[in-house]
Amino acid sequence: MSGATTVYAYELLTPETVADYLRSHSELADLVDPDQELDVHEVGDGNLNLIFVVADGRQSLVLKQALPYVRMVGPSWPLTPERATAEARALEAHSRVAPEYVPAFYGFDRERYVLAIEDLSSHRVWRGALNDGEQHPAAAAAMGRYIARIAFGTSLFGVEAKELKRLTADAINPWLCEITENLVFTEPYVDTERNWFQPELLPDVDELRADTRFVSAIGELKYAFMTQAEALVHGDLHTGSVMVLPEGSTRAIDSEFAYYGPVGFDISCLWGNYLFALARARVSDQTELAEWVRGLARETWDAFEQEFRSLWPGRVDPRVFTDSFLERWLAKVHADAVGMTAAELCRRTLGLAHVSDIETLAEPERERAVRGLLRTARRLAPARAEIRSPDELVAVADELIGGAL
Ligand code: ADP
Ligand code: MG
Repeated sequence: MSGATTVYAYELLTPETVADYLRSHSELADLVDPDQELDVHEVGDGNLNLIFVVADGRQSLVLKQALPYVRMVGPSWPLTPERATAEARALEAHSRVAPEYVPAFYGFDRERYVLAIEDLSSHRVWRGALNDGEQHPAAAAAMGRYIARIAFGTSLFGVEAKELKRLTADAINPWLCEITENLVFTEPYVDTERNWFQPELLPDVDELRADTRFVSAIGELKYAFMTQAEALVHGDLHTGSVMVLPEGSTRAIDSEFAYYGPVGFDISCLWGNYLFALARARVSDQTELAEWVRGLARETWDAFEQEFRSLWPGRVDPRVFTDSFLERWLAKVHADAVGMTAAELCRRTLGLAHVSDIETLAEPERERAVRGLLRTARRLAPARAEIRSPDELVAVADELIGGAL
């Protein structure tokens, strides 16, 4: 037995044990009837957890159970199942301030690390939709509003100051934050064993790592990630953590990385992943799709800004948080988001976990896409305060991706 299983001795769910599990949790048995013939599917395409879709013929729900290790690696990489506690905490807080943008939350089993949430099987994961060239016109703005609601409703703008201290202390998520600190903000910029990329890119990578202005900027962004406890951010809001319906429903899932961190971080995860979709469309000559994708960063930002401004008059204490404070605060969030986008570009092309947008491209398109994205990252991080709009960010990326073609 590995150390992890000894410490965390709890029973993992299987399709066969789900009915009994529901019977022993009466609040869930009201949602799905365990005495009907249940249809149970394990659908976790994720890297970390077990996901069961459970249907009784009339209604359904999803059970998500954390394993005591990283699923894609196995028990040799132990990882605390307390991450499910972080996800439960975020789901609860986010459904209070932004219910239309997260799955309904039915309950959390602290002993077995099982979350019960709304079944979103009618939706699809946004990344897959983007890769297939589908255009979901409402998704980018919906996620901008989601971030704004969190930024306001879980922060000092929406929460009384002493209560906020308690919430911030309760929401520490050290093990998952450490993953981000390593994979996003450290490893891509140094030579470590978990990195991987095409050998043809080695000169580009060497140049990027030797660029001390760039690497220092990444250090400043890591510092912001580790110290700027602004709001209970999602923490992993890439396009694979968003589920979409053509009719417009857009939900953020998988908030196990949630912690009190910089608002710009969530924006940057989306922006970075929009740039992966843009690079994919460009190198595969999908011009019309590329033009549509170009607008996504602006749509997310504009919706974020508009929603945040609409909440601003209701802030808890307006005495020194004046309207001109708001303008400077928004500019700071924008700069953080631009800089952290650079980190997202590097971590998904050089670090441990890559994205299908890029990895499913054939050679030599893949190499060109990554080269353009790395050049973009180098440009963005040190210049993050000078890039004043999402359109400017996208223009920089599009030019550098084009230049690498
Ligand atoms: P992990 O933390 O393991 O990455 P996710 O929460 O991202 O797990 O879920 C993995 C996959 O399971 C998602 O990509 C999606 O396909 C499916 N999934 C997750 N939550 C739901 C849900 N509420 N309804 C339907 N499918 C879901
Ligand atoms: Mg996850």
